[in-house]
Amino acid sequence: MKIAIIGAGYVGLVSGACFAELGHQVICVDNDSSKIKALNKLHIPIYEPGLEELVKRNHRHGRLSFTADIARAVKDSLVIFIAVGTPPKENGEADLTGIESVARSIARAMDSYRLIVEKSTVPVETGKWVKHTIEINKKKKVTFDVASNPEFLREGQAIKNFMQPDRIVIGVESKKAEEIVRELYGALGAPMLVTDIKSAELIKHASNSFLAMKISFMNAVASVCELSGADIERVAEGMGMDKRIGRSFLNAGIGFGGFCLPKDLDAFISISEKLGYNFNLLKEVKKINESKKQDFIKKIENSLWNIKEKTIAVLGLAFKPDTDDMRFAPSIDIIEKLQSDGAKIRAFDPQATQKAKVIFRGVKFCSDAYEAAKGSDCVIIVTEWSEFKELNLKKLKKLLKQPLIIDGRNIYDPHKLEGLGFKYVSIGR
Ligand code: NAD
Repeated sequence: MKIAIIGAGYVGLVSGACFAELGHQVICVDNDSSKIKALNKLHIPIYEPGLEELVKRNHRHGRLSFTADIARAVKDSLVIFIAVGTPPKENGEADLTGIESVARSIARAMDSYRLIVEKSTVPVETGKWVKHTIEINKKKKVTFDVASNPEFLREGQAIKNFMQPDRIVIGVESKKAEEIVRELYGALGAPMLVTDIKSAELIKHASNSFLAMKISFMNAVASVCELSGADIERVAEGMGMDKRIGRSFLNAGIGFGGFCLPKDLDAFISISEKLGYNFNLLKEVKKINESKKQDFIKKIENSLWNIKEKTIAVLGLAFKPDTDDMRFAPSIDIIEKLQSDGAKIRAFDPQATQKAKVIFRGVKFCSDAYEAAKGSDCVIIVTEWSEFKELNLKKLKKLLKQPLIIDGRNIYDPHKLEGLGFKYVSIGR
């Protein structure tokens, strides 16, 4: 099948490469011409395990191409996925100007039936507006369908998530649209849920908000653990053994970040309010998440006494492991606050340094964890990259001014660290 994917970012590029791998003919479009130039030279602009190989192979076999020319891509394709960003506005609402502008461009270029699929995360009722925009902007008397197919991939394991999804959600208004999307994904053999467009849109916002709620819930429980002397890791284990609850997303820490959970939570609160429902539960989820970063700073202060003039080794900058994505990463607020309190920062991240360099001023970026620790007053763990779990802690200890680790992700066993002579501060235990 011939597919155009508008927006060649984390979602668009991964989906494009995966659809090509399934045998479809895919053209990825982006209005960032430097990105398209790089992609045409097979330089992959993001770090996602396995992506480079997938893009190169499918490009070589002629199933995957890149262009900045949206009209050409629309003319050449039956199905057009919209995968542009839907960033948050100041008031928390999703900014849908990119979606509208793409819908307009698609409408102008359509010369026969097209299926336009929302893949970006959008508030409920966006499909209605996309349809309206195409209707009033189309140049020719052609029929079209709009569908919603929210994306659930997680950065760091995006290809696996695309190829082996828990479910594929399709929101449609016609049998024809349903059949096309079913055929597109047919080779995966994954469970499919077909709904109306609004329900599909809402499934995405509700799912992400629910996951955010799980994290904040555990972070609140972690606070009670600290006050009572219980151990959040054992509590999570015990809760997670209950099949109704499940173990995933029960990890306490410094809270969630990234381009999805914070903005989707805000957007869901906002659209609910617009529709007349005050989603107080989700407001509290957000508040707890913000407070965890403050709590972490407090732990650093309590451990170092004064922050001013202290050197802090920060391990992990990306919002989570296995990605270079720095958008809404907790490291940003944490480092900026420590710097404003007068700390010197030595930081290391296995993949995100290039992107972090654009964000931070006055940070010394190091080539590994040991270089970051050298001469520092403490190490703080901000992102739980696997390689940090394997560090030679004896070596690390020798490099530090004092053996102090403040761990925002609970990656070490406290007994082991104490046995090695560290002062070890973690979350909820
Ligand atoms: P991204 O910023 O990585 O990619 C968006 C791309 O769209 C960029 O390359 C940008 O240049 C391009 N673009 C913007 N406006 C355009 C236009 N008018 N015409 C052509 N291209 C345009 O964003 P992303 O992380 O891929 O997210 C895209 C959408 O998918 C968002 O709605 C997001 O919430 C959702 N989503 C993201 C993830 C994730 O893990 N990143 C997961 C599921 C859903």
